[in-house]
Amino acid sequence: MRARTIAVAATLAFVFAIAANASAQGQIIVDFFAAPGTGFADPTPAAPVGGNPGTTVGQQRIYVFLQAAAIWTDIIKPEQDIFMAAQFQSLPAGVLGSAGAQFIHANFPGAELPNTWHFDSLADHIAQGDLAPCCYDIVARFSTNFVFYLGLDNNEAPGQADLLVTVLHEMGHGLNFANAVDETTGAIPTPAGATEPFGDIYSQYTQDVTTGKTWNAMSAAERAASAINVRKVSWNGLHVELAKHKVLKKGEPGVRMLTPPSTSPLMLGEAAFGPPLTAAGVTGNVVLADSSGTTTGCTAISSNVSGKIALIDRGVCAFTVKVKNAQDAGAIGVLIGDNVLALPPPGLGGVDATITIPSGRIGLPDANAIKTSLASGPVRVKMHVDNTILAGTDRVRRQVLVAALNPVAPGSSISHFDTAAKPNQIMEPAINSDLVTSVEPPQDLTFPLLTDLGWLTDRDGVPDGRDFCLGSILTPTVVGPACDSMVPNTIGANGCSISDYMAACDQLESNSLARVCKLLAAVVLKGQGVITGQQLGAINSCMR
Ligand SMILES: [Zn+2]
Repeated sequence: MRARTIAVAATLAFVFAIAANASAQGQIIVDFFAAPGTGFADPTPAAPVGGNPGTTVGQQRIYVFLQAAAIWTDIIKPEQDIFMAAQFQSLPAGVLGSAGAQFIHANFPGAELPNTWHFDSLADHIAQGDLAPCCYDIVARFSTNFVFYLGLDNNEAPGQADLLVTVLHEMGHGLNFANAVDETTGAIPTPAGATEPFGDIYSQYTQDVTTGKTWNAMSAAERAASAINVRKVSWNGLHVELAKHKVLKKGEPGVRMLTPPSTSPLMLGEAAFGPPLTAAGVTGNVVLADSSGTTTGCTAISSNVSGKIALIDRGVCAFTVKVKNAQDAGAIGVLIGDNVLALPPPGLGGVDATITIPSGRIGLPDANAIKTSLASGPVRVKMHVDNTILAGTDRVRRQVLVAALNPVAPGSSISHFDTAAKPNQIMEPAINSDLVTSVEPPQDLTFPLLTDLGWLTDRDGVPDGRDFCLGSILTPTVVGPACDSMVPNTIGANGCSISDYMAACDQLESNSLARVCKLLAAVVLKGQGVITGQQLGAINSCMR
């Protein structure tokens, strides 16, 4: 049985007062649940760390949550209070935390897409009311199995998880950075009384670039197949698309097949040790490593890998041992072939300052394909960084990738960005140590994605993932400085009203240029059939 922490109530009241000043409207309100002496009520004394003034472990944890709530509140500016329940408990190995909505809603006031599920917090915001006043909007759990860093300055020790970044991540899920899909079956929820299931707002912009279909347009079987279409599922919402060049860097590691030739490069997980791969990279023939009759490279390598790229199987010993053995035998590079299906291939961990050749991990299917090719002839590859592509985008539509994982990982698949993104993103499946406390450009794409979902909605009827003019001027008629033109202020399919174009012209420094701009805009709108010639004249008169 858990109850709301009593011991820390005084601290809560004080810090909530600070958070309330950050927003004139709603805010994220966290209720802390803890069994006596544990989690948020952990009385273990703690020295203030990294700007966190708490003096017990429990207080410091609470302070981190309030900081995360303040950061998100400041950015999303919720119209309604968002109620979140948080607790520490034992979670499965490797899981730092989890969060989600208690309720999902569709066809509520202000929804810009029909029959489309939204998480509770986002639905309340768009509807401007609490659609499920009974209950929490977000329920989040954090693991007791980790010693988190509790400072607010991203100064965690190597191997330590940053709680502030972790909480920002989980709150992101609670704000609808997740779909309502069972990725194993592709099933989506059917509302009570309906015969067909509804799509969800996240799936509206999740696109399989092999088929070109978005997830809401797919059958359950198609979604299940797409969920494992690794590095070929990406986000086609407008605001992520507009922000990607501000956030992502060029350069994706990969293996180009020269002999036998192939146009699609192999995915490569980067090594944490040795020299980083370059655009020029290393090119060589691939030789299967032979160490005393094994292919794991854990002892001296006897096959002739000198001047070549050694292919070594994962397993038995550390990656650094394998790569060092290949280096000692004269190899110029190493491909570690995975021994289990895990796509995209994870990086290679380890530390060894004496390693001077590049290495990386390829997936089990690619390793098997190379071995098959080797049986019938030479295999020549180039390990390099492809600087023609933004890291973390697909190669078909160049959209920002979401995490299609094979095998499927329910709760992780699709509802994250792909691990290929550089710099690392807060909403990747794992919390990386180089993350900073930002959820918006130029560091991060999380807020642009939430913008596509509707957090900046202007309720103009155009879904925000397609809306070029968020914050549209929605007066019934086009009004100028001189008069009301009485021309209906039509909203286009791009989400821009006629008044939005006029207001954009006001950004020009000179009044005369702004007037010319407005006349040109009106002429274009007439050319598109949005307004008549008579209405053009009326608008032009009022803009003088
Ligand atoms: Zn997550």
